[in-house]
Amino acid sequence: MSVYYANLDFYEQLPEAFSTSVLKRHFWDNPCLFWLCDGIFATHAYSDQSVAKASQDALDRTIDRLVADNKDRAVGDNLDQLVEWLSGNIQDVGHVVGTIIPSFLSTLAGQLISGGYDVIGLGTFFNQTSACLSLARMLRLHGYSGLIILGGAGVTDSMARGLIRSFRNLDAVVVGDGELPLGEICRALATQGSAMPLSDQVIWSERRDSQRFEQVKPEPVRRRGERTTTPGIPVLTGDGYERFFKIRSQTRFAGEDVQIPFEISRGCYWVARSKCTFCGIADDFKMKAKTPHVAVPEIVGLAERLDADYLVCADTALPKNHIRVTVPQLAESLKMRRRSFFFEVRVDIPKEELRAFSQLGNVVLQPGIESLSTPLLTHMRKGTSAIQNIQFLRWCRIFGILPYYNILHGFPGEDPTWYVGMKSLMRHVFHLSAPRTATQVMLLRNSPLLREGGQHLGVVKPWDEYRIMYPAVDAESLDDLAYYFNGDFSDIDGEGIKPRADLISTVREWQRADRSGTAFLMRDKVDGGSCAVYDGRMDSAVELTLDSVDAAILDAGDEATDLDGVCEKLERGPERATLSSHVLQRLFDMAGKGLVLEERGKFLDLTIPINIGGRS
Ligand code: SF4
Repeated sequence: MSVYYANLDFYEQLPEAFSTSVLKRHFWDNPCLFWLCDGIFATHAYSDQSVAKASQDALDRTIDRLVADNKDRAVGDNLDQLVEWLSGNIQDVGHVVGTIIPSFLSTLAGQLISGGYDVIGLGTFFNQTSACLSLARMLRLHGYSGLIILGGAGVTDSMARGLIRSFRNLDAVVVGDGELPLGEICRALATQGSAMPLSDQVIWSERRDSQRFEQVKPEPVRRRGERTTTPGIPVLTGDGYERFFKIRSQTRFAGEDVQIPFEISRGCYWVARSKCTFCGIADDFKMKAKTPHVAVPEIVGLAERLDADYLVCADTALPKNHIRVTVPQLAESLKMRRRSFFFEVRVDIPKEELRAFSQLGNVVLQPGIESLSTPLLTHMRKGTSAIQNIQFLRWCRIFGILPYYNILHGFPGEDPTWYVGMKSLMRHVFHLSAPRTATQVMLLRNSPLLREGGQHLGVVKPWDEYRIMYPAVDAESLDDLAYYFNGDFSDIDGEGIKPRADLISTVREWQRADRSGTAFLMRDKVDGGSCAVYDGRMDSAVELTLDSVDAAILDAGDEATDLDGVCEKLERGPERATLSSHVLQRLFDMAGKGLVLEERGKFLDLTIPINIGGRS
């Protein structure tokens, strides 16, 4: 068995401007990339020339519409740069679709066939499905008669059935974790000839269906002393990456950073408690995780063996025991050479555990912040609050961790006044990291929004752009194949338009302040326990002096806490004699100056301490 990474082979053949303008952008910055990257392959998935042409026409129409709809957008916006490039280089897109992709697919199919494989598995995530389907067709055109099996995180049950109905080059589609079913299929091929094992996870084409048989699942063979791990999450050793690094060294990507992915868990522990309403994770996808004693040596081994500078955790939400145990152990094991790491987390992380991330080196965390409005966070069942999110962003600033997050808006059933409150809160935290984007929430398959949207959603249908990928399927099959949907939700009465537009422009202002590094709110200790505050969140900077009681109160509000919590902390210091009514008065005074955030009886220090021993 071998793993074949074809991405570098493809990128190397693309015009450099195309890969910079299209492929190197992040999906969340440009939602149109969700269909563009899939769409450029789509026409090659079809043998019927009229269907292939319909796909090509749909791609051309969609790009034209994107350019026309967005030509007046403000310069500097990420989408604007992409649109500008597309409008001036439409012939480059044509060259990629008409010449580069068929040649790439043909070469790749030839290489795979020369490997003599009985089974070729194709993996898709959000937007590689058309690339997989067009490769499947090219393999058949080159005479490949082995099994072609599609799977990956982007395939759910109904999508699998839609794909197998619509694309005859596929023999089977795997739903969920692919390792075990694929292994069983290979074992059956080796021992039983063409008869295939029966599994709920594998949807066979009708052609192959008659050849199935029920097989007793064999017990996994375990050697004495061998460490166990959760079935379905393989331990990576870096084997099979050699070809990737060899090709990279021969391409224009030789000098670029390589991000090495690793996996600790699959699924999300929050789904079982209260799945976020916009989340597209399949409901029956069971949470599973390695233990720290398996994960730590695996990640250290990958880092050292591959000489990796940047390691990317592929988990959707790093489990809490791994935040507590794995992260500090990794920091200790890799302390001789700090690296860059990326993790997705939820924001409810205690301060000392967040600090442990910073010991790894340069760390980017993608927290599920989503909003700075507690009512909206409750509405989307996030299980967090605005003050918790701000606390997370502030601690990240203190520890030098980069948070990478988005703000979502436009939820069915939302109250437009929530955006008014959020906008005013944002103006107090321009000294913290800004969101990457403010995006209209998407309607995803498997999401509670799609299931429960009811009257707020109006007519729901798959994105029009799916006609590029699936130009000839009927409406019912398209419903099965789609992951992204449109609904007429939000703004039904128009009241939400202005508050949301104001929110977006405030986010842009915040991003500009963040990029220029000009916004600050710092607190410096001076004599006798008092402190100086330098407030440069808005255009003109202000300097304030706070007495020792205010300084102690701010210290006590390092973690969001109520009045009793603040007083309890003061009890342990020189300001223990301060009456709680005075503490409350001072908290509200400082909240009025934007130095403290108050939410539902909890208070949080917004300042960033400098030169305060032991604080940060
Ligand atoms: S959005 Fe994130 S935190 Fe919420 S259920 Fe999905 S994966 Fe879990």
